[in-house]
Amino acid sequence: MRIDIFTIFPDFFKVLDVSLLGKAQTSGTLEIQTHNLRDWAEGPHRSVDDTPYGGGAGMVMRADIWLNALESVLSSLPENSSEEHASGSQQAILVPSPSGVRLTQELAQRLSTYQQLTFCCGRYEGIDARFVEALKDQEGPEVIEFSLGDYVLNGGESATVVAIEAIARLVPEVIGNQESLTEESHGESGLLEYPIYTRPAEVAGLGIPEVLKSGNHADINAWRHDRALEKTAEVRPDLLQIGGKARANLSTYDR
Ligand code: SAM
Repeated sequence: MRIDIFTIFPDFFKVLDVSLLGKAQTSGTLEIQTHNLRDWAEGPHRSVDDTPYGGGAGMVMRADIWLNALESVLSSLPENSSEEHASGSQQAILVPSPSGVRLTQELAQRLSTYQQLTFCCGRYEGIDARFVEALKDQEGPEVIEFSLGDYVLNGGESATVVAIEAIARLVPEVIGNQESLTEESHGESGLLEYPIYTRPAEVAGLGIPEVLKSGNHADINAWRHDRALEKTAEVRPDLLQIGGKARANLSTYDR
């Protein structure tokens, strides 16, 4: 997968060279390129923003500079084949925004199958609305404005790091043991993950549930399902409402 990131703070993304994503870049599974938006700006200060039409506080990033920047990089990438166009876009432009659609595991899963993702990190009061409007008007990659949650960050950089981590770990070969992805929170079952334990067997006067030492996998699975269901009902009851995705019955495991 190829990832392009446009930002005025390229150094922010050094964090992606660490751990599993760093290894995935070394092995060639992931190729991440950052681009400094100021390279497309003019004038001694390479300014990328201006005051808002209509007045008000803060500055707004200029759509013309953003469009020029994307144009020069996207046009240098190999085009999708017509088959790929027909079967859905293999490229997407992702614009972090507090007013975008929520980044979910489902969206991350879908994007993990794409060949190329471009992230556009806004700063100040955000990017002139015509940037996304113009991208959507063009026949080109799918454009998705995404939000991490109902709060406001200073810039799109941290949202982009979160999104890349959520998406890239689902790309085959990025995580060594793919099995570890199957029973996670927000996965197929729609439940949060059950509590997990490791050695030592006692910590701060707390032991571990006997069933986990039983070696009986049917009992262990039933216990885990029940705990996952209980935790979801307690912490995120809303997840149990979504399309009946989560199996709402307690198992027959006898506690
Ligand atoms: N004026 C904007 C508003 O009220 O919606 C907020 C702009 S914010 C200070 C600057 C940038 O941070 C945004 O353009 C976006 O890239 C990013 N950002 C802020 N909150 C975000 C969130 N919850 N999810 C994703 N990106 C966010």
